[in-house]
Amino acid sequence: MAIWNPAEILPREQLEALQLERLRACVARVLRAVAPLAARLRAAGIADAREIGSLADLRRLPFTTKADLRDHYPFGLLGVPRDQVVRVHASSGTRGKPSVAAYTRNDLGVWNEVMARCMTMAGVRPGMVVHNAYGYGLFTGGLGFHQGAELIGCTVVPISGGFTQRQAMLLRDFGGNVLCATPSYALNIAEALERDSIDPRMLKLELGLFGAEPWTEQMRGEIERRLGLTAINMYGLSEIVGPGVSGECREVRSGSHVHEDHFLPEIIDPETGDALPPGREGELVFTPVTKEALPLIRYRTGDIAALDATPCACGRTTVRMSRIRGRRDDMLIIRGVNLYPSEIERIMLGVADVAPHYQLLVERPASLDQLTLLCEPSRDDLDREHLRARLEHELHQQTGISIAVRLLDRDQVARSEGKAVRVVDRRPR
Ligand code: ADP
Ligand code: ZN
Repeated sequence: MAIWNPAEILPREQLEALQLERLRACVARVLRAVAPLAARLRAAGIADAREIGSLADLRRLPFTTKADLRDHYPFGLLGVPRDQVVRVHASSGTRGKPSVAAYTRNDLGVWNEVMARCMTMAGVRPGMVVHNAYGYGLFTGGLGFHQGAELIGCTVVPISGGFTQRQAMLLRDFGGNVLCATPSYALNIAEALERDSIDPRMLKLELGLFGAEPWTEQMRGEIERRLGLTAINMYGLSEIVGPGVSGECREVRSGSHVHEDHFLPEIIDPETGDALPPGREGELVFTPVTKEALPLIRYRTGDIAALDATPCACGRTTVRMSRIRGRRDDMLIIRGVNLYPSEIERIMLGVADVAPHYQLLVERPASLDQLTLLCEPSRDDLDREHLRARLEHELHQQTGISIAVRLLDRDQVARSEGKAVRVVDRRPR
């Protein structure tokens, strides 16, 4: 078992002492340098970082949200003078205007470090060939994985996203051992391999580092089978650092270890904002305590997950977060039932003969919302009507609502080159 940094196995008391010290420094930085957030801290009765007596005081601090980033777009929340910012990135803008992320030299160092930790924990070793199909540019995926792999001492193939047929060729020719991509793009690459008659067993692939969008255990099985690799989940968001906030350990692969010495995780009730105990599902909140350029306090991610504080068999002492069920914004309310696309994915992939590509169409033909699942059979020689009926039955059984299924021809569901668009909303505004 390889561990990149002893910080991952610190005894809890030591870790918590470090967290407290860093939280105080972070609050001091915000009070000193980030006027809009400092005003809010003072309004909440925190005028001095020394008022943070214990980690429990974190709950006294006000939240920051995506709206704050938008209101102070692009550089209004910097914790350092602009000329100390050596890099900017932006969120993908999956929901509206992208938010800007900024990094000092030190922030980039932390990012590289947590990426190297995640990748090592996933099983990446020096000398491996890392085929990085995350998009390069403002999106944090490409450069994040790139830097982590270089720090470990891998051979990086910075192919970025797109030109999918060429991905298949280079994966074979360069002997990629590690594939980094969104899970939906990994499937797209798997299809490109099939088109080129490249059997995954001819490849040197061993690991897949997948993230940047919600995906299910069922999808993991599908990708592993098609690409002949071990698939690992990695999580992050640009506002906190980019990828590298948390990742699964290869040994256990049940929940992602959060790098708690840099990112303090909490789960809150999305409605009331109250903190929830480990095990309860709610909205993930992070305080990136070592961040200099963008020192956010209690940033609400909008992502729905739970925390697990039980010890992990891998030996790490850090808290693990569950898979993301979905973004709060992506929750569909269909005839009073709350539904995340990942739930549909799970049910759909439990039905034999369905390909792992799908989109959800939301319409409002009359007064009620209607949900249609667009998907494909996995082969051409199937009884399509029978398959459609099986799917509709299963969806109804497991969600309690009727969801129409439209089986398209093979290759007709839009393929992704990055984050898959799962929901197409045609409801009138
Ligand atoms: P955007 O919010 O515009 O997509 P980012 O590119 O920063 O911005 O992506 C971060 C978001 O991607 C997270 O907040 C989360 O919703 C999603 N995400 C990242 N990694 C994972 C993962 N492993 N599982 C599920 N969702 C993920
Ligand atoms: Zn572990």
